[in-house]
Amino acid sequence: MSVASVKGVRDLLPGEAERWQAAELVARAVFRAYGFAEIRIPIIESNELFVRSVGEATDIVEKEMFTFPDRHGELLCLRPEGTAPVVRAFIENKLYATDPVAKLFYIGPMFRYERPQRGRYRQFHQIGAEVLGVAEPLLDAEVLEMVVHLVGRLGVTGVELQLNSLGDARCRPAFLTALQGFLRSVRAELCGDCHRRLEVNPLRVLDCKNEGCQAVLARAPLVSEALCAECRAHYEAVKAYLRQQGVAFVEHPRLVRGLDYYVRTAFELVATTGLGAKNEVAAGGRYDGLVRDLGGPDVPGMGFAIGMERLMALLPEGSSEPAQPFLFVASVGQTGEAAWRLLTELRHEGVPAEAGYEGKSLKSQLRRAHKLGALYVAILGEDELNAGQITLRDMKAQRQDAVPLARARQEIVARWASR
Ligand SMILES: [Zn+2]
Ligand SMILES: [Zn+2]
Repeated sequence: MSVASVKGVRDLLPGEAERWQAAELVARAVFRAYGFAEIRIPIIESNELFVRSVGEATDIVEKEMFTFPDRHGELLCLRPEGTAPVVRAFIENKLYATDPVAKLFYIGPMFRYERPQRGRYRQFHQIGAEVLGVAEPLLDAEVLEMVVHLVGRLGVTGVELQLNSLGDARCRPAFLTALQGFLRSVRAELCGDCHRRLEVNPLRVLDCKNEGCQAVLARAPLVSEALCAECRAHYEAVKAYLRQQGVAFVEHPRLVRGLDYYVRTAFELVATTGLGAKNEVAAGGRYDGLVRDLGGPDVPGMGFAIGMERLMALLPEGSSEPAQPFLFVASVGQTGEAAWRLLTELRHEGVPAEAGYEGKSLKSQLRRAHKLGALYVAILGEDELNAGQITLRDMKAQRQDAVPLARARQEIVARWASR
């Protein structure tokens, strides 16, 4: 019996992988234009990193982490998101000492033990970015403008930027008290999870997925109405900058995001068509205080992540053929050595070239070349070898020329260059 893949993960096969590569290439170019540099963070981290950042009573930490002890009993996990690892790396490598502003992006897999559904996997992929070191609302607007541009550049049309402010350490305590008071008054109508959350972390009740809870929460106090003067001014400035830049947005006073570290600006980029119920393409926000809470200096932060699976589901199918060879070398008879040398020389020149392996008939090799989509076939039979030449067949034009073997490499490289 064969061994199957683990539940909730999937293979990205040739064809689809090329589509992902193309999207990643666009993202890299956009990040570069906006002054971001890549960071490659590990896939495994200490479990504690996420307990201390994402938060103890969050769905991610309570239910969705792939947590396991290593052989010495240290509790590790597969990273469920990218922000905390980037902040950890920022602190550990003292990036703040080289430049007061760090603009970093990452691309890679994340892991959450969720119920697998269409478009939702336990290993999923994110393109994310973080800016550390800027508190000004201009940065929030810059990051929002970038993510909207990036998603558009990737080819997604029909997204809505939903925006909210979550307050900060100054104004949130009063809001949490008010929220807790409300939640206690409607306790009987809430689910079991929420009974516990309302005591430990009342904000997390707001992202309960239970429909009964959601109905009750429609009457809950709004965080956006409890902002202190500084948070209100920050939020107003972000919105003013967005209007200046012509970035459309919708205020969404119930948007809270399912992570503890967000303060002030929080947002979601939501697809208005094509994805069904779970339709956010990108999300993020400001997290001033997180760097300090994880043991670093008191440096503000702001970031977002784009969900690759959702993104790719929204993109037009386009060309999804695996890369085809430019040339197929068909060797007939005792010409293997010369054919192999030509093949290797061309590959060293960067020409995608392929060959048969088993000394099959010319007809069978041509069939294989056609199946692979090769644009040219170099035929090297014993007659050709004795005459010191190859037959170069243009598969599309259905014609062929004799090319001296000594010039074959040059000729094929030239055709590749002018393809
Ligand atoms: Zn505030
Ligand atoms: Zn609930």
